[in-house]
Amino acid sequence: MRRAISVIMSGICLMPLLTACKTKADTMKSADVFAMDTYMNLKAYGQNADAAVTEAESRIYELERTFSVTNESSDIWKINHADGQSVSVSDDTVSVLQTAQQMHIESGGALCISLYPVLRAWGFTTGAYRIPSDNKISNLLNYCDDTKISLSGQSVQCPEETEIDLGAVAKGYTGDAVMEIMREHHISSAIINLGGNVQTLGSKPDGSAWTVGITDPFAPDSLIGTVSVTDKAVITSGNYERYFTGDDGRQYWHILDPSTGSPADNGLVSVTVIGGCGAECDALSTALFVEGAEQAVRHWRNSGDFEMILVTSDGDLLMTEGIAEAYTAKKELPCRVVHHNEEP
Ligand code: ADP
Ligand code: MG
Repeated sequence: MRRAISVIMSGICLMPLLTACKTKADTMKSADVFAMDTYMNLKAYGQNADAAVTEAESRIYELERTFSVTNESSDIWKINHADGQSVSVSDDTVSVLQTAQQMHIESGGALCISLYPVLRAWGFTTGAYRIPSDNKISNLLNYCDDTKISLSGQSVQCPEETEIDLGAVAKGYTGDAVMEIMREHHISSAIINLGGNVQTLGSKPDGSAWTVGITDPFAPDSLIGTVSVTDKAVITSGNYERYFTGDDGRQYWHILDPSTGSPADNGLVSVTVIGGCGAECDALSTALFVEGAEQAVRHWRNSGDFEMILVTSDGDLLMTEGIAEAYTAKKELPCRVVHHNEEP
C-alpha cells in the first residue's frame, strides 16, 4: 500500500515536470524569411513562440520597406531624393541614423553610410560590377560625408548630391527589433540568423550556451571556429561575402574604405564582433574591417563594450581577452589574444 501511494505521489510530482519539459521541447517555432536581399532564419522556444515569430516576420518586412534604397516609399529613398530638402522619417530611421553617426565618429570616419554613390559606381548596388576610374571615384567622394547628414527630431536633411545606404547597419538593427518582440512575448530562448548576422536571446532551452560558427574567410563553406554565447549578437563582416574578380584578375569586395573609395584593404579578411547590441555590432564589424587590426585594437581598448575576432590576410587570428575562453578552434591558425592592460 505504501509502495502504491509512493508511486502515485511520484507520478503526481513528476507530472508538472513532464508538462514543463514537453512545453519547452514542443513549442519551438522556426521560420525562414527572405528580406533585405538575404536569407534569414528565426527560431524561438516557449509557449508564445508561434505568435512571437509571426510578429517578428512582419516587423522584418516593415523595416525592409523603411530602409530599402530602391523602394520609392521608403525613408531612405525619400532622404536620397529630397533635393536638399528636409524630410520627416520614422523612429526606426532616426534610431539607426543615430547609431551610424555615433559609429562614424568613433571609427574616425571608417563607417560612412553616405558612400552610396561610390558603391553604385562599383556596381555593388546592382551586381553589374565594374572598376570605376580613379577620377570618377574622387569626384564621387566629394559627396560622401556623413557629417553633412543633419538629424533634428524626426527630420533629416542632406546636401542634394548626398545619398545614403544602411547596408552596414540595417540587419543588426533589425535583429535588435526582432529580439524586442521576442521579449515582449516572454520568450527567453531564441536564436536568429539574418544573413550571417547571428543574434541570441538567453540560452538554449536546456540552459546551455548557444554555439555560433565563425566562417573561414579562406574557405567560406567551413568554419575557423565557434563561440559559446548567451544573450549576444555575433556579427561578421568579411571580404568573401560579396566580391567580384576584375579584368585585372584581382578581387574587389563590397566594404569600401571611405578614404580611398576602393575596397578596404588594411590587412583584414574578416571581423567578427560580439556584443549586446546588434546595431552597434553590425556597424562595428564594418568599421573595424576598414580600420585594420592595429586601429581596431585601439578602438576596442577605448570602447570596452564589445569583443572581436579578427582574421588577417596572412591567416592569423587575433581575438580580445573577453571572448578567448568562449572560442573553440575548428582550424588551427596562429592566434594572439589581446588584453586591455598591455602595451599596444
Ligand atoms: P554584410 O551586409 O555583407 O553582412 P556589412 O555589415 O559589413 O556586411 O555591410 C557591408 C555593406 O555596407 C556593403 O554592402 C555596403 O552596402 C555598405 N558599406 C560598404 N562599405 C561601407 C563603409 N565603409 N561604411 C558604411 N557602409 C559601407
Ligand atoms: Mg556591418
